[in-house]
Amino acid sequence: MRRRDDAPAVMTVENLNMYYGSFMALKDVSMIIRKNRITALIGPSGCGKSTFIRSLNRMHEIVPGARVEGRVTLDGEDIYAPEVDPVRVRRRVGMVFQKPNPFPTMSIYDNVIAGLKLGRKRKKSELDEIVERTLRQAALWDEVKNKLGESGTSLSGGQQQRLCIARTLALEPEVILMDEPASALDPVSTQKIEDAMLELKEQYTVVIVTHNMQQAARVSDYTGFFFIEDMGQPGQLWEFGETEKIFSNPDRKETEDYVTGRFG
Ligand code: ADP
Repeated sequence: MRRRDDAPAVMTVENLNMYYGSFMALKDVSMIIRKNRITALIGPSGCGKSTFIRSLNRMHEIVPGARVEGRVTLDGEDIYAPEVDPVRVRRRVGMVFQKPNPFPTMSIYDNVIAGLKLGRKRKKSELDEIVERTLRQAALWDEVKNKLGESGTSLSGGQQQRLCIARTLALEPEVILMDEPASALDPVSTQKIEDAMLELKEQYTVVIVTHNMQQAARVSDYTGFFFIEDMGQPGQLWEFGETEKIFSNPDRKETEDYVTGRFG
C-alpha cells in the first residue's frame, strides 16, 4: 500500500458555494490543500476553476455581486471571519495571473519590491537580498542580474511571468495561487515556469489552474477535476486525489474522459 501523505493541511475548504449575483457558479466544494505540495485544478472551461482559486485569497471580492458560502481556512483560521482583513489574506496567499502584469513604469528591481513599499522601511542591502533571493527562486536571476535597472516590460513574456512570481514571493506568502500562469507562453518558457514551481514547493504551497494536462501530470502532487454535470448547473469538484491516481486510475468516468483527452 502507498504511504499516506503526512504533509499538514495549510488550507481547507469546506462546503463552498460561490455566486455571481443570483448565478451559482460553484456548488459544495470541499478540499484540503497540503503544505509544500502542488495542487493542480483542471477541467473544461467555465466550470469554476478561476472562481474557486480566487476564493482562496478573497480575490473574487473585487467582482461586484460575487459572494461565497461555506468555510475556507488558512492555518486553521477562517479567512472569511469578520475581523479578518482581506489585504492581509492576499499577502499570505499570493496570486500570479494568466497574463504577466509587471508595472510598466518600473525597473525589474522595483517591480520585485513593489509590494514591500507599503510595509516597514527597509535598508537597501535588505532589499538587494530580497531581490536576488526571489529572482533566484523564480528561476530568473541569471537572465536579469546584469540589467536590474531596465524596465520590467522590456523582458519577454515568459520572463515577465517569472518576474511576477518573484514579486509575489517578495511578500513572503505561505501559499501561491497561479491561474494558468503558462498558458500564454511558449514551451521553453513554460518549462522554466514548471522548474520554478518545483523549486518553490520546497518552501511554499502552490495551487495552479491549468488547461495543460501534461503540465498538471508533471508538476502536481494533487489534482482536482472540476466539472459541470448539465448545462446551467454549477461547477462541482468532481474528483480530487493524488495526481498519479487521477491520471492513471480515476474513480469517475468523466475524469477519465477528460484526462485522456476524450472531451474538454
Ligand atoms: P473556469 O476558470 O473553469 O473557466 P470560471 O471560474 O472563469 O471558470 O467561470 C465559472 C462560471 O462563472 C462561468 O459560467 C462564468 O461565466 C461565470 N463567471 C466567471 N466570472 C464571472 C463574473 N465576474 N461575473 C459573472 N459571472 C462570472
